[in-house]
Amino acid sequence: MKYYGELPVVAYFCMEFGLHPSLKTYAGGLGVLAGDYLKGVKDYGYPIVGIGIKWKQGYTDQYINGDGWPYDLYKDYKYDFLKDTGVNVKVKIRNKDVLCKIWKVDCFGNAPLFLLDTDLPENEDRWITEKLYHGSGDDRIAQEIVLGVGGVRALRALGIDVDLYHFNEGHAVFAGLELIREKMSRGASFEEVLAESRKQIVFTTHTPVIEGNESHPIDRLMYMGANNGITREEMIKIGGEPFNMTVAALRLSHISNAVSQLHCKISNEMWKHVDNRSKIIGITNAIHLPTWVDSEIIKAAEEDRDIWSIHMKNKIELIEFIRDKAGVKLEEESLLIGFSRRAATYKRGDLIFRDENIIGPLLEKGKLQIVLSGKAHPQDNGGKKIIADIVKISKKYPDRIVYLENYDITIAKKLVRGCDVWLNNPRRPKEASGTSGMKAAMNGVLNLSILDGWWPEACKHHVNGWQFGDGFQGANEQETDKHDLEALYQVLLEKVIPTYYNNRNKWIKMMRNSILSTKDEFSIERMLKDYYNKMYIV
Ligand SMILES: *Cc1c(COP(=O)(O)O)cnc(C)c1O
Repeated sequence: MKYYGELPVVAYFCMEFGLHPSLKTYAGGLGVLAGDYLKGVKDYGYPIVGIGIKWKQGYTDQYINGDGWPYDLYKDYKYDFLKDTGVNVKVKIRNKDVLCKIWKVDCFGNAPLFLLDTDLPENEDRWITEKLYHGSGDDRIAQEIVLGVGGVRALRALGIDVDLYHFNEGHAVFAGLELIREKMSRGASFEEVLAESRKQIVFTTHTPVIEGNESHPIDRLMYMGANNGITREEMIKIGGEPFNMTVAALRLSHISNAVSQLHCKISNEMWKHVDNRSKIIGITNAIHLPTWVDSEIIKAAEEDRDIWSIHMKNKIELIEFIRDKAGVKLEEESLLIGFSRRAATYKRGDLIFRDENIIGPLLEKGKLQIVLSGKAHPQDNGGKKIIADIVKISKKYPDRIVYLENYDITIAKKLVRGCDVWLNNPRRPKEASGTSGMKAAMNGVLNLSILDGWWPEACKHHVNGWQFGDGFQGANEQETDKHDLEALYQVLLEKVIPTYYNNRNKWIKMMRNSILSTKDEFSIERMLKDYYNKMYIV
């Protein structure tokens, strides 16, 4: 189906876009979501263009060293598939002109994406677009000036007439200051101009963890020139002091959204003290099916044909992929649990291993095998420690536990098709949405998950997957972890393992339920309709 007619034209700003494994302009979930969005935009013919940054070295290539500790490698990536638009724009950073070259990407089945690049001989500060999410002070602000201010100027220079500016996460906030600056030059008052600009801006918040919401001292923003001609007092009115990027985005937009219904509740609670902010509604994230889901298994589920043999083909493909990558040969007939996410401590990648008296015998007897993957942020030693702990235990059960280094879209694609179970155990309620579970669910890979992010909307316990933990939130981390670990083991031992080995028909029925109950509700087509109906046209 294609949509035509008088729809508003939207510029979708995001710090990262994950369209294809060969284009290293993404770190994780936010980028993959933005990439899926632009693919859906193309499929369904919506008038949306993407604005992002051409990261020269991407995020990080992360491998495990001989001691089992993750280390980061950076190299310069060159792309022959980017189109040179021939258009440059300038932004001012620390009172110096920085030239930004505009590249165009439209070769991955995606709507046009324009990427800004400061790696030019004319620039003193060529490094600005070198590494994604590297640094959090002056360097981060410089990158955000390029994305926001440079992004708006790029649209003007390219002659793209935009009705709405969608800030996907707070990184793009300085685009709002550019819209204000443009209007201020006409001589209107700040309040008038702010109100007018808000009508052009919508915002999506992604982070239910307070510390994850970036802020900067006003002095630093003024010194960097991020204020873009706006006074100190006006800056404080927008983002507070220190200037919080999420607060600013909430005050610069006329409507905003959280990325699942639970996250909507959390976000409204989190930001209730912010005056003059936009309303936060809930639009749950979704995925681009052609990218992530085996169309054969969907078709077979719809027609009530054999899905097990399609699943086994995908499982065997994954087992071969793992053998080639890690030199470990897993068993086809043994239950395979997958876990791959950013190695942030709250995601508790090591949780399932915490009571070796329980998990050890299951691994030894071959009742269970586990494949894990995920990068830690290069500066996050807590996250790296989790990876190191998993690598350590994998050495103890070498044929049963595998850690795949340097997680990316290629690994994700294999895992969400070929595992039997997809495990998710963040400390609630810190997972905003989580889209890998949707990818798994639609491939008939059963979710075994804490009730966080998108899962409370989809879960029918022991019907299309499993929940554990009942939504418990303890008084402290120890209490929560103890509770969740017991709950995980209970469902694993009483439901997951017995069903897999003793009731294959029930398992296959659950797979079918999983596919059929998620394929429409969590498709990018639904998400695009929601963004138009609930955000863009209001
Ligand atoms: C889907 C995907 C994510 C996001 O999944 P979460 O469930 O949010 O962890 C992250 N990274 C890659 C490579 C993905 O494909």
